[in-house]
Amino acid sequence: MRFHILTLFPEMVENGLRTSILGRACQKGILDIHAVNIRDFTLDRHGRVDDYPYGGGAGMLMQAQPIYDAYRAVASACRSKRPLRVIYTTPQGRIFDQKMARELAQEEELIFLCGHYEGVDERVLEEIVTDQVSLGDYVLTGGELPAMVMIDAISRMVPGVLKNEESGETESFGDGLLEYPQYTRPEEWRGRQVPEVLLSGDHGRVEKWRQERSLERTRLRRPDLYARYDLPGKALEYLRQDRLGHTDMIENIRRRLVRVVAASESGVLLWNPKSSVYLLTARDRDAGERLLSLTKPDGAIYCCHQRFLAESVAGRFGRETVRECCQAVYSRKTPLPEPEDVAVRPLDRTEPEGALPRHFASVHGEDPDCLIREGRLFGVCPADGDEGPVGVIGLCIDGRIGMPLVLAPYRRRGIGQALLRFGINRTLEMGWTPYAQMGADDMPSLTLAEAVGMRICREKLYWI
Ligand code: SAM
Repeated sequence: MRFHILTLFPEMVENGLRTSILGRACQKGILDIHAVNIRDFTLDRHGRVDDYPYGGGAGMLMQAQPIYDAYRAVASACRSKRPLRVIYTTPQGRIFDQKMARELAQEEELIFLCGHYEGVDERVLEEIVTDQVSLGDYVLTGGELPAMVMIDAISRMVPGVLKNEESGETESFGDGLLEYPQYTRPEEWRGRQVPEVLLSGDHGRVEKWRQERSLERTRLRRPDLYARYDLPGKALEYLRQDRLGHTDMIENIRRRLVRVVAASESGVLLWNPKSSVYLLTARDRDAGERLLSLTKPDGAIYCCHQRFLAESVAGRFGRETVRECCQAVYSRKTPLPEPEDVAVRPLDRTEPEGALPRHFASVHGEDPDCLIREGRLFGVCPADGDEGPVGVIGLCIDGRIGMPLVLAPYRRRGIGQALLRFGINRTLEMGWTPYAQMGADDMPSLTLAEAVGMRICREKLYWI
């Protein structure tokens, strides 16, 4: 990444930025810091670059001409194909923060204009500046220090500048919180012990402790940040990058079925305490490992959105059963017509149960009594039948529609479709997005889902 700094004090900027980590990155060619002396471009015989302000007032103003010519010289030599961003450091600008640093780090080249004295002739700002950025609500003597601070923060986001790229993510503001307290050797110093959990070697406990300390510290020291820290919002932001594939996770958050354990730009972990299910999705294996270290595996079921996550769960917790599933989503808002000749109704305890409710419960890991008591199980019962329903469908505790089951002699009569249409319409009535899951090789269910207009997600899910 290239930084061009238009300044009256190039040596100040160069000395400040060419040391330590940024100096190393410059040597490696990852960063290029190019300080441009505005004075070199003045047309004034005496080398002047400033003059008195029109209308009177204290101090001197930097003139437009030398700044403009310095800018033109730099801009015409720029290699970037994108429109150049020119940042004027000024106490009147938007206040610089980590989010802005991250955004600016996406550019290939940036130009900084450092003011001095009383500031800069407004006309050249109007002509060339794209962003006015402040370091904070105080006035400094010049724009060099702000430019250096901003360049430092931006550079840390450029891949390869930090040795361990992760440290940029886990530091303060990386996930909207302040960083947790840190300790190094010795274990005891002036009677103060390193917290026991950090010496335990238990990665999960360490991660949990750090997350809690981060939250606590942010709440106490930066209540403004804490108030803005919105985990469900963060999770939804990530999940909506693949809205269809993440329907189950989005719906679980919307329906308040889950607690958001972690959410960042690299993944999301949800916990459904009722069904003991962790739902997780991650950008890559490392991010997945970080999420998994926040989970307690005992008695928990994992629903992984990537195969590498399922492999990590298997490796980490010695699990074997992986069920590869497809997710089907009804993404329209309009209800489906329900056939009049197939009556679907809630099942209750007063009628013969038959085999299907229990079978449905076991397929979907539910308690059959609970399904019926809570009115989540529906069936088709022939008028003369005393053997219970011939087809059932249920709304599962984790928000899914459990795919219909129909007794063999009653198949191919439209009962499965009627049940699924019924399940979709009841879900829509509650204001939710209907979705279902089925084994990746369960062709009858996949065909049925498509027949009623559900979309099958390309990405598979792995239950483990
Ligand atoms: N007269 C200007 C005003 O009241 O807004 C302040 C000028 S200041 C003394 C001189 C230069 O320092 C500015 O042009 C700007 O480049 C830089 N500067 C001062 N305070 C700054 C801040 N908080 N953030 C960014 N740049 C600042």
